[in-house]
Amino acid sequence: MDLRRRMELLTEAALPDREQGMPKYRRSVPVGNRPITSMGIAQARIPGGGSINLMRVMQTNACSLSCGYCPTFCGGKVPRATVSPEEVATTFMDVNRKGLAEGLFLTSGVPGRATRATDRMLATLEVLRRREGFQGYIHVKLLPGAEVAQVEAATRLATRVSVNLEGPSDSAVRTLAREKDLSGDLLPKLELAGRLYRRAREEGGPGPRGSTTTQFVVGATGERDREVLGLVARLERQRLLHHAHFSAFQPVEGTPFENLPPTPAVREARLYQAEHLLRDYGFGFDELAFAADGNLPLEHDPKTTWALANPERFPLDVLRAPLELLLRVPGVGPKAARTLVAARRHTTLRDLKDLKGAGVDTVRAGFYLTLRGRRLASAPAPHQLRLFAPGEHLTQAPFRTPVPPCAYR
Ligand code: SF4
Repeated sequence: MDLRRRMELLTEAALPDREQGMPKYRRSVPVGNRPITSMGIAQARIPGGGSINLMRVMQTNACSLSCGYCPTFCGGKVPRATVSPEEVATTFMDVNRKGLAEGLFLTSGVPGRATRATDRMLATLEVLRRREGFQGYIHVKLLPGAEVAQVEAATRLATRVSVNLEGPSDSAVRTLAREKDLSGDLLPKLELAGRLYRRAREEGGPGPRGSTTTQFVVGATGERDREVLGLVARLERQRLLHHAHFSAFQPVEGTPFENLPPTPAVREARLYQAEHLLRDYGFGFDELAFAADGNLPLEHDPKTTWALANPERFPLDVLRAPLELLLRVPGVGPKAARTLVAARRHTTLRDLKDLKGAGVDTVRAGFYLTLRGRRLASAPAPHQLRLFAPGEHLTQAPFRTPVPPCAYR
């Protein structure tokens, strides 16, 4: 197989399938006659804010693991390909010099020994950093079974290191893939990478600069949101994890899990929303409200659920409420809360229109706010709060994907 075809296979396999249920970040490139330098490029948010064009590629999609949700599992009938460290580095630098991608996302299947496959990825990073002098963003996904020295090398070479935990417990992870080990392998590796980056941040100096991410496949093993978010909250509180991704399980034809029911996309959305409350809104894990089954209620977003359970905290006076309380109002995000606090110092906020101008979702927020003693809106009707059409999220997933559920994000 020539390089073009191999890169085509391996970049498409690594494209992000979706973000919160929406395939919104994929860059559109005409199919057919695509230049090699255009493949696999998608926008991604980067640490510190903003986004860049990222070239996403797998070093190989050959794999001897049995992840039940993944089309490239050991028994999967997909064309296999491999690119050498030199080929990835050369192709990326070509893309980079043409201004098509500013960063690289590198992942890999695990054909045989994980340490060997990890070495190949690290060799790619070495060529880019040492020979090519590339100083930009590199995200490398560490493989199950990577060694401690490889984790250390990855944190030195990459801007972001991710280890997919996949599930919140040993049993959940073993059900997803019998070769994967949460407490003996994946979690300690993620924590080690997190500690190395954290220490460098605290000490300053020449240590590695970067952060970690992880990902969970949700809904295939009966795991509960409470377990998933409990683990995420602990890692984020200890500053070992920058953020987590969640992937609602979707069955893919030809995989061991092809007959399992899909997970409603709204569950994934609720997990993202709850994780944002922990990371950006000052919520503690104990404040999240879970249903009796241990999952987040699907009917409302987690902040609305919290607000409905704590009616004594509202309404808040827009002109006086401190920033940390404004952040508790459904429909008020961190940016809008900061804009409101700054605006009320030097302008007169009069009505919902002014709040809208500050970025507030007034449909959600009006009921929880007062301005000059007047509540700004009545309670929103249930249909105004839903992300999905009534019933849709309870009965079906809105899409299917040939790509493993975010396995490579
Ligand atoms: S998710 Fe990764 S490790 Fe698991 S089978 Fe697929 S390619 Fe292999």
